[in-house]
Amino acid sequence: MAITIKKQKSGGIIDEVQKISGADLSVCFQCKKCSSGCPVSKLVKYPPSEIMRRLHLKAGKEILESDILWVCVSCETCSQRCPMGIDVAAVMDALRKLALENGASKQEGNVPLFNKAFLKTVEIFGRSYDMAMIAAYKAGSRKFMADTEKFPTMLKKRKISLLPSFKGDRKTAKRIFQMAKLKKGAGK
Ligand code: SF4
Ligand code: SF4
Repeated sequence: MAITIKKQKSGGIIDEVQKISGADLSVCFQCKKCSSGCPVSKLVKYPPSEIMRRLHLKAGKEILESDILWVCVSCETCSQRCPMGIDVAAVMDALRKLALENGASKQEGNVPLFNKAFLKTVEIFGRSYDMAMIAAYKAGSRKFMADTEKFPTMLKKRKISLLPSFKGDRKTAKRIFQMAKLKKGAGK
């Protein structure tokens, strides 16, 4: 697949990505094992190995508009498969963070909204709570009736619960979110 990279005066965005993710991208030798295991690589324009290559080639902020950032399901298969021990999933997280901070324009659908709704329920309940997540997502997207036909079946098959589970470690979850907010405030 052809890769188009805009020439940057500086070293591109790679330094920032490495700092946030803690990953050393220089050791990637383009074996493509990350892409071959990635469950969404066939659905996106640039699979993980191409994102790595684009970063090597000093891609700038245009890389923050890559569709994979909002299709990636954070399964971490790429990180597990990388023979060089690169935490590719952390690279995706770093790119997502930078995309949000930079107001990247091509975010796929309402995935950032879904991310936010999911994280908020984890922060409050210590684990995900589908009903609250769905309510927050629908309120934000204003698509109140979308996919509601699946709801009775999911309820019947116990794929979704009306009440939250209180088995999550709420204290630890809260502490993690507080630390993340502090770090963000400190500009780390
Ligand atoms: S698996 Fe690792 S070394 Fe191979 S292409 Fe992906 S990031 Fe690079
Ligand atoms: S974490 Fe994202 S990029 Fe990595 S394999 Fe999973 S879906 Fe693909």
